[in-house]
Amino acid sequence: MTGSSQTSPANLGTVRVLLTGGAGYIGSHVALVLLERGDDVIVVDDFSNSSAEALRRVEQLTGKTVQVVEVDLADRAAADAALTDLEFDSVIHFAGLKAVGESVAQPSRYYRNNLMSTLNLLDIMREKDVRKFVFSSSATVYGTPAPGVARLDESQPIGRGVTNPYGWTKAMIEQIVTDVQRSWPELEAVLLRYFNPVGAHPSGQIGEDPSGVPNNLMPFVSQVAVGRREKVAVFGDQYDTPDGTGVRDYIHVMDLAEGHVAALRHLEPGVEAFNLGSGEGHSVLDVVRAYSEASGREIPYEIVAARAGDLATLIADPAKANERLDWRTTRSLAEACRDSWTWQSQNPNGFAGA
Ligand code: NAD
Ligand code: UDP
Repeated sequence: MTGSSQTSPANLGTVRVLLTGGAGYIGSHVALVLLERGDDVIVVDDFSNSSAEALRRVEQLTGKTVQVVEVDLADRAAADAALTDLEFDSVIHFAGLKAVGESVAQPSRYYRNNLMSTLNLLDIMREKDVRKFVFSSSATVYGTPAPGVARLDESQPIGRGVTNPYGWTKAMIEQIVTDVQRSWPELEAVLLRYFNPVGAHPSGQIGEDPSGVPNNLMPFVSQVAVGRREKVAVFGDQYDTPDGTGVRDYIHVMDLAEGHVAALRHLEPGVEAFNLGSGEGHSVLDVVRAYSEASGREIPYEIVAARAGDLATLIADPAKANERLDWRTTRSLAEACRDSWTWQSQNPNGFAGA
């Protein structure tokens, strides 16, 4: 992406963006894309699930500096102290806990962290009259779609059949943002419903670095490829899908990152939700095969019982984002596997090895 200093409705001028959770997987890639555009980036993170090394590498890759503030946004007094004197004109809110299983075991922690962070942030934004807000939501807000609905557009109901506290925090935050905007009409908010983010920056310098056993498919597959784990457990092969395994809409994290720039460009008073996905479905076995080809490694797998709460198929209808944000995915699953493998093979132990 190239930077531009001109401001016009169709063209986002340079911005000064606060990225909460900006040291994490998605935030670090968005930081990189914004810096490459010539924007200023401030990261606020408590590093509870990330490493400062990610931001050091973003600086190395871009030759730019990231202002970093370490704070727990769920702590109101600390958040006030940290943000009051910072200058920024927009916020992308990534900060939050995101492990579905953990959220079932520790619901209070998830609700407290994710909801309090957001409430504090929105209050502080209002006090500072910062009106531009992009929120990391998730396809999980669609819960359990009605039978026969596999491609989801934004008109689908939110919160119906959500099966875990993590998903509820996303649905609740969408409602909170909507209610806050009603009371503060100048707020310009976009809710980005991510489908399944995968891959890494093609340099292999930054990528997904889960702590403990990965919950998500691709980081698990990548750790099998690199020899950290023995085999992939495929959660069920009796779904009503072409090969019986679950089908998802995998989106390259660089496409996702570019979607955030498109969202910033789009902002206007109100709240608007957009799906960020490719519109294409791939099965678990498609991912295993694609990763095996990308890595040149055999990836052993075993079919095990289906995971509770999993759906057969979940694919985005990205038409609204394609049209209204003038954004679409351009990278394939094969490219995501290639870039993930570059990251994983160069950093077999993630940032911990640095
Ligand atoms: P991540 O865990 O890598 O990044 C989240 C960051 O937030 C971490 O750096 C963490 O340290 C920070 N954080 C958490 N609580 C905080 C707090 N109270 N104060 C300050 N910082 C805090 O996760 P990610 O994959 O980059 O996801 C970013 C956002 O996108 C999250 O909100 C997540 O729920 C959402 N999302 C992710 C996916 C996915 O598959 N990765 C899918 C849909 C939505
Ligand atoms: N999956 C799997 N084994 C794993 C992790 C995931 O078979 O170790 C499957 C899961 O059942 C789903 C797909 O891979 O069909 C994507 O799961 P993930 O947890 O990455 O994302 P989700 O769509 O559940 O948010």
